[in-house]
Amino acid sequence: MSPPPQCRKETSIAFALSLLPALTVLAALLAGYHALAALIFFTTFGLIVIGTLVPRCAWFGPLICSLPAGSKGVCLSIDDGPDPEHTLALLDILDLHQAKAIFFLIGDRAARHPELVREIAHRGHVIGNHSQTHPSATFWALGPWRMWAEISGCQQTLIQITGTAPQWFRPPVGHHNFFVAAPLRALGLRMLMWNCRGYDAVEKDPAVVLSRIEKGLHPGAIVLLHDAVPICGEVLSATLALIQQRGLHVQLPD
Ligand SMILES: [Zn+2]
Repeated sequence: MSPPPQCRKETSIAFALSLLPALTVLAALLAGYHALAALIFFTTFGLIVIGTLVPRCAWFGPLICSLPAGSKGVCLSIDDGPDPEHTLALLDILDLHQAKAIFFLIGDRAARHPELVREIAHRGHVIGNHSQTHPSATFWALGPWRMWAEISGCQQTLIQITGTAPQWFRPPVGHHNFFVAAPLRALGLRMLMWNCRGYDAVEKDPAVVLSRIEKGLHPGAIVLLHDAVPICGEVLSATLALIQQRGLHVQLPD
């Protein structure tokens, strides 16, 4: 699937803007203003790094990090599925608590396990786009055409399986550069981040993960959890218990 004309135009503008700092540095160097060139280089490089790597930074496009102000609920978001070992167990835990979550699925995994994707949708959960191949180490540096392929590829995969176009996108590891906003606009996607996490994809002790989640579990929180990790079921159960203890409820984003 090739990008529509408006997306190509917006991407070209973003590409031209991304070259501006380098051209300015080059011009300053050629004119002999070496200190000015260094200042421009380090300032723009620092700003680009912050805008790209900080998940909650919205410099390169709109994003949502919490439920609307005044919300009394919390949103559970579960990344990186579907997974043949864990997804069904997570769905059963959610059913037990009558809770609905948003699952950010990886396109390649969804294509390998379409029956799990359909089961997630069948049980009333929301399915979001989490890129086609989840290139976590390089997503921050993807150029415009590969970025389009990652986002539109996952969108197509999920539409083919469920018949419905996802409305939410979450970038791998929360990184988002100059070239994310145009594909999202073209595909009608909104970027949903989080403001509460326990690092369950890297921490092996569920108690440590829970203690981190506990600190951020306030009304309006969007909790980041992961599928496909050994402790995911335990962490989800404990998080749901904690939500109940605090008198909160689980809700989906609007
Ligand atoms: Zn992920």
